[in-house]
Amino acid sequence: MEIQETSVSYCQACGKDFKHLDIVYFAVWDNNIVCQKCAEAHHEKELRVYVDGEKARGNRVGKHD
Ligand SMILES: [Zn+2]
Repeated sequence: MEIQETSVSYCQACGKDFKHLDIVYFAVWDNNIVCQKCAEAHHEKELRVYVDGEKARGNRVGKHD
């Protein structure tokens, strides 16, 4: 099973910044990307992983950060 990636870098409910490869949620009802805490209020949600575009390029070669 593969988690879809998102490039949204912060929670669209509370504004919390995500770190590269954080597990976040897509709230189906709101069409928003939210953090795990905010996702507790949502019943329909899907897992996403936040990928920082610049770091993702670096991490193809070697994990380092
Ligand atoms: Zn949040």
